[in-house]
Amino acid sequence: MLSKLCSERKFLRFSFIVIFHAFYFITSWFRCFVDGATVLDVKRVSYFWHITDFHLDLTYDPTETHCHYKYEDKSKTTFGDYGCDASWTLVESALRFMRTKRGDNVEYVIWSGDSIANFSAIKTVEALAKSTALFKQYFSTFFVIPVLGHTDNPTSDPIMYKHITDLWKLWLPSEALETFSSGGYYSIEQKNRPTIVVLNTNYMASDKDPFGQWKWLEKVLQDIRQKRGTAFLFGHMPPGFVEPSREFMPKCLMSDDNNARYLRMVENNADIISGQFFGHLHADTFRIFYNTSGKPISYAFVTPSISPRDYNNPGFRLYKFDDNSGKIYDYEQFYLDLRTANTKKLAEWTKEYEFLSYYKQKSITAYDLHNLAESLSRANESPLFEHYLDVYSAKSNKQDCTVNTSWYHYCAITKLDKKNFQHCLGDSRRNQIECPQSHAIVIPQPSRGFQSSSVDQLIFNMQIVVAGFVFVFFSSQ
Ligand SMILES: [Zn+2]
Repeated sequence: MLSKLCSERKFLRFSFIVIFHAFYFITSWFRCFVDGATVLDVKRVSYFWHITDFHLDLTYDPTETHCHYKYEDKSKTTFGDYGCDASWTLVESALRFMRTKRGDNVEYVIWSGDSIANFSAIKTVEALAKSTALFKQYFSTFFVIPVLGHTDNPTSDPIMYKHITDLWKLWLPSEALETFSSGGYYSIEQKNRPTIVVLNTNYMASDKDPFGQWKWLEKVLQDIRQKRGTAFLFGHMPPGFVEPSREFMPKCLMSDDNNARYLRMVENNADIISGQFFGHLHADTFRIFYNTSGKPISYAFVTPSISPRDYNNPGFRLYKFDDNSGKIYDYEQFYLDLRTANTKKLAEWTKEYEFLSYYKQKSITAYDLHNLAESLSRANESPLFEHYLDVYSAKSNKQDCTVNTSWYHYCAITKLDKKNFQHCLGDSRRNQIECPQSHAIVIPQPSRGFQSSSVDQLIFNMQIVVAGFVFVFFSSQ
């Protein structure tokens, strides 16, 4: 009887060990499967969303015939109209789609500024608080990386920055809150993953560096280099220039000094910068950085806005990247056809394109983008410029498609230095570049920790629970 009991126990023990190992193997395999890799493939594929420029207008009721930004009468709609900033219904539909599309299987969401339309400080706080609450509601299990846009502090009021810091403190570790509360920039170091560096590029429209961002950035990049790490740079306003169109002059985005300094920073650190990501332009485009010998060394992607103010369709995107090196593998661009959405009274967000297949590329490097830009400039030889223009305003058909505009786009994409940009534009436009006045900014304090990948965390927790269960079972024998 006793020996039978012993052999039953042995069998039970053996079964538990087999089950535990099988469970461990399956969950590890599942982790790889979720990431799109095989068990033997050590690449760690991850994703992050990038959404930007809501310009949320809380005073805008799309069912009425006017909006705050557009002066002429507009149609009564459900989600808002071209030429207007974003309604609450539009913003809400975007976040709801992101959540249902990918659930927890992303590392983080980049929310890169201009969350509110340009109104009073009270409306700004209200719109930021409502947007923050929406992110908390739809992305409660992982974290959001907020970036300051130039409309997020229209009055430069330190009290308002205290509000912003309080709103976002749940997503940021204490070290990040310290620099954010004093200058609107921060970094988040992640073990064996690219460091997240969030810049306040709004300062760079002026010649000043009032809160020591450049010095701080130099130190952050130096630390990353010493640790043999890599970095993602996120900001609201990109360096370089906005291409001229029929209606608008070419525009510079940063002051000459800050623009030149930014380009130097990239040249000195291109080997550790895995990618740069911006908003602000309300357009789908990219920028290429070259070293002084003309070799392409880095790139920046610009995500289109949620706001349809520039007669664009609303859009956002999902990046696919190597979790370890930060190499960007591809991205999926999503958009909402506003006309159809309003006709159907239904926001059907859909995939617009995937970068690699759309542009017939094999990978994403500065070289690849340089070659792509070269073919865009030959509009009459290559259909790629039509592709580019088609998605530039997220399929709203707002752009005209002349050879001239293809050249202007080429100049903005490849010439980030002012002299080169002027030279590229040619004599007729070179002296027409409009430069902005500075946006002064000030800020305050608070704290909390950083959370890691949700899938990793979930599987790790499950494994701990099962290991604990096995341990308790054997201890009781
Ligand atoms: Zn902006």
